[in-house]
Amino acid sequence: MDKRYIYADNAATTRVSDSVMSAMMPWFQDNFANPSGLYSPATASAKAIRQARADIAKCLGAEPGEVFFTSCGTEADNWAIKAAVELTGKKRIITSRLEHHAVLKTCEYLRTKGYEITYLPCPENGIIEPGDLEKAIGNDVAVVSIMLANNEIGTIQKVSEMSEICHEYGVLMHTDAVQAVGNIPVDFKALGVDMLSLSGHKIHAPKGIGALLVRKGINLPSFIHGGKQEAGKRAGTENVPYIMGLRQAIIDATSSIEKRSEYVLGLRERLIDGLLGIEMTRLNGSRENRLSGNANISFYGIEGESLALLLDMKGICVSSGSACTTGDTEPSHVLKAIGLTNEWAKGALRISLSEDNTASDVDYIVEMIAEIVGKLRESSTLWKRTINS
Ligand SMILES: *Cc1c(COP(=O)(O)O)cnc(C)c1O
Repeated sequence: MDKRYIYADNAATTRVSDSVMSAMMPWFQDNFANPSGLYSPATASAKAIRQARADIAKCLGAEPGEVFFTSCGTEADNWAIKAAVELTGKKRIITSRLEHHAVLKTCEYLRTKGYEITYLPCPENGIIEPGDLEKAIGNDVAVVSIMLANNEIGTIQKVSEMSEICHEYGVLMHTDAVQAVGNIPVDFKALGVDMLSLSGHKIHAPKGIGALLVRKGINLPSFIHGGKQEAGKRAGTENVPYIMGLRQAIIDATSSIEKRSEYVLGLRERLIDGLLGIEMTRLNGSRENRLSGNANISFYGIEGESLALLLDMKGICVSSGSACTTGDTEPSHVLKAIGLTNEWAKGALRISLSEDNTASDVDYIVEMIAEIVGKLRESSTLWKRTINS
């Protein structure tokens, strides 16, 4: 059989699209001027950034002055949380164990500096109850940080309800929307959050560009000190090509959500049905309330890592747990948070589809997984013990 190449790890990163490449190209060589200059190529660069800020704001229900470019989603998360505690002077942060490490490790760092971290309970469906936030919140809280869509299990949180609760208590609300922007409709104003993180490379822009949206009127402390870029809050010469790439990616993604998600959802349902046909498997996280491209399935009695490595030999790129924790022998913190036992959590595989995938990709993935899971189970003592008991 011909060796195929199927990329199905779009929650880890995506291919830069042709339209994003074209949008970036003129800003590398034709006009490379520093936007802070006085000559006309420089003012053209500055104008391009203004246009990008305005267009991104428009796509996401924000105002241009609310958009601050960063080097990535991780930076936006770090900035939001560290600046919120500095701004408010309060000592408690509320978050959940479903968050990305960009949020979790920032909170753990702040804990070593004397801050208290409250983790909201995570039900098995991977969707946090706003009522649990209501119970945990108080006016001693600096910031609540709950992601809009999860990167491992794709579940979508009730962020606007949580924002309302935060505002009753005068608490800042941050959401990591890196997986959500471009995949589900995101309206900054309607969500009611004070801060929102996004990243380019999950939506066909390059790695190394992101943004933090900050509600007008919040005077968030600066994150990087230096020049006057980003209203003096995030210094460093602007990455004009990547900002233009991010603009194009957000325009493309937000204008086609409905069409794309219908197509990708069809593929995903076919994939989930196929994989749940293998005995002793489970879908992790709510089937309904999740990103259309995300399938996270556990195969009992095997290691997701071994499965992913053997799939690579068949030309299939998928992830065990989250890409950021590859190499860890510990099972995914998200799967543990929703209550999976070690055995089920270790057998997890995340397949994240995009509009570039086809039904034939899905059928090939299911066929290969069924074959490899069967082989791995033949040599698994855990599996033998289970089926013989
Ligand atoms: C990828 C991701 C990040 C990190 O974004 P980078 O741009 O890679 O730093 C943060 N949060 C979530 C939910 C992500 O999926």
